[in-house]
Amino acid sequence: MVSDGTLTPEALAERAKTNGVELWALTDHDEVGGQHRALAAAGAQGLAYLTGTEISVTFAGETVHIVGLGFDPDDAALTQGLLATRGGRKQRAMEMSDSLAKAGIPGAFEGALKFVGNPELISRTHFARFLVEAGVCREPHEVFRKFLTEGKPGYVPHRWASLRNAVGWITGAHGVAVIAHPGRYNFTANEEYALFSEFKEHGGRAVEVVTGSHTRQEFVKYAETAKEFGLAASRGSDFHSPTESRTDLGTLPFLPGDLTPVWELLASRIRQ
Ligand code: AMP
Ligand code: MN
Repeated sequence: MVSDGTLTPEALAERAKTNGVELWALTDHDEVGGQHRALAAAGAQGLAYLTGTEISVTFAGETVHIVGLGFDPDDAALTQGLLATRGGRKQRAMEMSDSLAKAGIPGAFEGALKFVGNPELISRTHFARFLVEAGVCREPHEVFRKFLTEGKPGYVPHRWASLRNAVGWITGAHGVAVIAHPGRYNFTANEEYALFSEFKEHGGRAVEVVTGSHTRQEFVKYAETAKEFGLAASRGSDFHSPTESRTDLGTLPFLPGDLTPVWELLASRIRQ
C-alpha cells in the first residue's frame, strides 16, 4: 500500500485469512508506514501478525533485498534509515524515464507516477505497469526481461543502503534480518558466499528459502545454504497484486522440516 502492492492492508488480511495463512507480515519496500494499519487489519481477521519491511541494499554492485521481521515499527533509527533509503528514488525515476525516452518510449515518468500511491516510493514496478498499459509489453515479467534490468533500456544503477546499515537498523529495532530471495541475484559463488558471511557478521539470522521468486531447485539449494550458515528459514509469497503475482498468499509449499523457521526466533514478537 505504501510501496508497490495494489491491495490495501485490509484486503490483504482478508485474502490471507481466506487462503489459510496462519501468520502474516506485510513487507513494503523501504517503508514501515503501513504497519499499524496492517496490524489492526490482521487483528480484525483473527490473524497472527509480525511487522515487516524489505530494505533495498547495494552489495557487490547488485541490489539485494533484506527483509526485516518483528521489529518495533516506531524505532527512530529504523524509520530514519528507511527515509534516507527512499530519498533518491525520484531522481532515479527521472533518469529511468530519460533512458526509456532514448529507446523511443516517451513520457514514462508521468506514466509511472499515475500508479504511485506514495510519491516517495516510485519503483520499477510502477514503470512496469506503465509499459504494460502503454502496450509496449504484455505483462510485467516481459518488462523485466526487456527493460529496467542491467544492460536494458530504463536501467539506472542506484546506491541503496549498505548491508551493515540495513541489518543494523532491523536488529537495533529488536527485529530479525532475513536475506530475501537469494536465487534472484546474479552473484558468482564467491560473491554469494561473501553476502551470507557478511550478513551473519552484521547480525543477520535468517534466509528466505521458500518464496514465490524461487524455483523448486532453489528451495533445495537455499535450504542447504541455511544449514551451512546456521541461519533460520523464512517463507514468503512476495505477493504484490492478484493480476501480477505468480504466487498467491498462503499457496507455497511448507519449509523443509529440518530447518528452523524464522518465526521460532520471533515468538515473543508475534501479535495476536
Ligand atoms: P525497485 O525497488 O524500484 O528496484 O523495484 C523493485 C521491484 O521490481 C520489486 O517489487 C519487484 O517485484 C520488481 N522486480 C524486480 N525484478 C523483477 C523481475 N525480474 N520480475 C518481476 N518483477 C521484478
Ligand atoms: Mn524483493
